[in-house]
Formats: sequence, structure tokens, C-alpha cells
Amino acid sequence: MADRYSLVLKGGRILDPRNGLDFVGDVGIFQGKIVEVGRNLDTSHALDAVDLSGKWVLPGVIDPHVHVSSWIGDYPGLRMMASEGVITALDMAGPPESVFANVKDHGSGMHIACLDAFTLGDKQKESLTHGEIEKRIAIAMEKGAIGVKILGGHYPLSPEATARIIREARKQGAYVAFHAGTTRKGSNLEGMQEAIQLSDGNPFHLAHINSYCRGYVKDPLLETFEALQLLKDAPHVWSESYVNVFNGTSGKCVQGMIQSHVTRTCCRVGGYAEDENGLGQAIREGFAFVTVLKGGINTLITGEEGYRYWRERGTDVTLSFPVNLLPVQIHLASAKDSEGAFIVDAFSTDGGGIPRNTMVRHALDLVRLGVLTPLEMARKLSTRTAEMLGLKSKGTLSAGFDADITVVDPQAGKASLGIACGRIIMVEGRVVGRGGTLITTEKGVSKVKEWGLPYQVMDPAEALPRKALSRKREP
Ligand SMILES: [Zn+2]
Repeated sequence: MADRYSLVLKGGRILDPRNGLDFVGDVGIFQGKIVEVGRNLDTSHALDAVDLSGKWVLPGVIDPHVHVSSWIGDYPGLRMMASEGVITALDMAGPPESVFANVKDHGSGMHIACLDAFTLGDKQKESLTHGEIEKRIAIAMEKGAIGVKILGGHYPLSPEATARIIREARKQGAYVAFHAGTTRKGSNLEGMQEAIQLSDGNPFHLAHINSYCRGYVKDPLLETFEALQLLKDAPHVWSESYVNVFNGTSGKCVQGMIQSHVTRTCCRVGGYAEDENGLGQAIREGFAFVTVLKGGINTLITGEEGYRYWRERGTDVTLSFPVNLLPVQIHLASAKDSEGAFIVDAFSTDGGGIPRNTMVRHALDLVRLGVLTPLEMARKLSTRTAEMLGLKSKGTLSAGFDADITVVDPQAGKASLGIACGRIIMVEGRVVGRGGTLITTEKGVSKVKEWGLPYQVMDPAEALPRKALSRKREP
């Protein structure tokens, strides 16, 4: 008799928020799909079976905010994420050709989608025409990105150009994510407020809410409550927050000037001058951390060693500052609206190549602390994230869906097994997956095919809008 299952996961605690399932049972997998979930599946015709007693079985973890391009994060991120139990991730800056090349040459077997950042020369920032925006978005989609990212907080555009990009992205069926901030408002609570206004009811993904609650405008907890209220009043906005003390930004300086506005703010709040000298001092004195590749993974170093590396690289390195406060992280992770829905939709890391892929570990910590139930944790790590990104075949352990599964060890407090479309890609932190699957849209298929990797097609228009809502008519 032919094999009924290629793999059976036996005796784990099954957590499937979409179906409200929480019981000890088995998952049967065949040809990359889940074919059965139940008690005591017959394994006599299974090619392989794994005993998962004491473990928790979740729909494959999805990280909606990572960096794995040569520009930010780079290829080590692909293994760093997989080793922590992430199965699917969205690169938040691109460029797509670099992300896809990294998946091909250094992939860890994960599913990767990508946005293309709106980076511009100084002259274009104020005068970006509608035609230019139209063209930029169309090109990003043709290259295989599922949409675009506005890096306002780091490299601000005018409010008008920003609003135009969000509107045009929706028109073209492109996913659009925004790190709040324009030439008028910074990467803070005011920037967040402005971002929602500029969206004018058009759905978009507001990146890392924790970044706007660092105490730059008022007390960090007051900012957190206001940020949550802003999101409650804006049901067209999808959002994520990360659970880690470190942010991620750029150390690049040109003619003594720090390029990223986020880096400038971090220097200021640390009591350092907002220029190259001040930043150098912040690194030497242990306030700023430099991302350095060591033994195949990126790590954070500071002090003289970090300073030397920053100098050797001509300042163009990724930096992290310890600016995310724990109480803020916990509130954003757990706050719900009156209907019991999470106000911030998903967990993220803003990690990948930036070393803070702690989403699964810290989600388990929050369960241990009683902040989240195990099912709620699974919702924020996968189910809600799949809805947010419009990944219709993911986010649940239902029959017929992709066999994307993350197994966690609640005792050890971390992921212990990663499965992507039925293939084991990680065992006890060791990455065994190779290559990967590229996620793109219809518009990107012909370009993505050239990479010779498996691919999946999604439609960002199905992800957005978030809820049925009365929206203002477009002018
Ligand atoms: Zn980011």
C-alpha cells in the first residue's frame, strides 16, 4: 500500500487558533500539505513519524518584519531566523534581487516574501511626481516584491509624497508598509499619528509600533496607551511590534552627518551629539552596538571593538541601541479591544540578519508570565500574521493547508523543530533546510521563475483591508 503520510507528528499539544483547537494529538502530512489532524493517527503507512510528547505544535511561525538583503541584515539572517523556529518571513526593505539571491545561495528552506524600499535621492524627496511613484511601484512588483516599504522614520519623504505612495500602492494592488516619519514628523508618536492621517483610510502596514513608544514625546507608557488608542480608531491599519530591547538602524555618516534620523534621535536620547563624533562616542561607551558577522551568524558588539569595526567599514554598518522598554513591549503584545481582538496584530522581530530573532522565545516567556495563553501566542505568531499578509494557505493546522509547522519546547522556552511545506528545516536549533520558497504576486512570477526556486503566488489585495469599514471616498 502506498504511504498515506510522508510524516506524522505524534502526541504533541496541538494549538490551532483558527479552529480553536487545543488538545494532545497527531498531525499527518503528505506532499507538503496537512492531510489530517486528530487523535491516534495510524502510522503504519507513514514514511516517518516523530514523537512530540511534551511539545507544542503551532502553525508555522511567520515573521512579518525582517531584513535579509545585502543592504540590511544580509544572508546570515536566513539561518538565524530558521534556527528560532520561523518558517515564513517578509523582508521589509529589499532590494528583491538581493533577497532572492541570498535565498538561492544561503537559504534555510524558509518561505520568503519581500518589499522594495522607496529610497530616493535628495532632490526627489520633495518633488516626487505621481508618475514617478506609479513607475516605482510597478517596477518593484515586476521584480517580484509583493509591495513597497516607506522608510520615513530613517529617510523621510514629504507628507504629500508619502500619502501618494500609500494611495498608489493600493491602486496597484501592492502591499505597503510604512516606518512612520516624514519631513514634518519624526519616528515617534506624532509620526505615527501623522502616518494614520496620511493613509486617509487606505489600508497599510504600520511597522513596529514599539518604535513610536520610546518616550520621545511624553512618558513611554502614556505613549503606549495613546498608540493603542490610535490603532483602535484606525481599523484599516495592520501592525506588529517586536519584543526585544534593541532597535536596528544605520551607522552611516556622510561628511560628519549621521544619515538615519532614527540614529540621530538615539544619540540625542543617550546624551550624545547628533553627528559622527557623537555616534563614535556612543559606540565606544557601550550605548550603541554594531552588528558583526561571527561564525556564520550576526552578533552585537560594542566598545572599542565595535568602534574599530564601524570605522573599518567606513561607518556603513547596522547599529542597535537599547531603546525598547519592557513594559511597553508587554502592553503592545497583549492589549485587546472590546471585542477581544489584539490591537497590535502580530509579533515581529525586525530581525533576520539583525540579531534579535527572539520572537518565539519571548512569546513563550509571556505565556509563562501569564500575559498570553498558548492559543493567543499561536495567534500572534502565525494565524493573525497570515491574515495580515494575505497568505491564504498558511496560519492554521487545518487539512489542505501548507504543512508549515513550528514545534516549541515549553520547558526549554524555544522552538525545537521547524517544518516548511512538509520538509524539516530545523531540528533543536540546527538548520538543516536549504534554498527556500519565494512568495510573490502574479506580476512578479516571470521574474521570480528565473531564480529556479519554488514559488508561491499571493494577492496583497486579499490581505487588505483589515476589517469592513466605512471609508472616506477618494478625491
Ligand atoms: Zn525594519
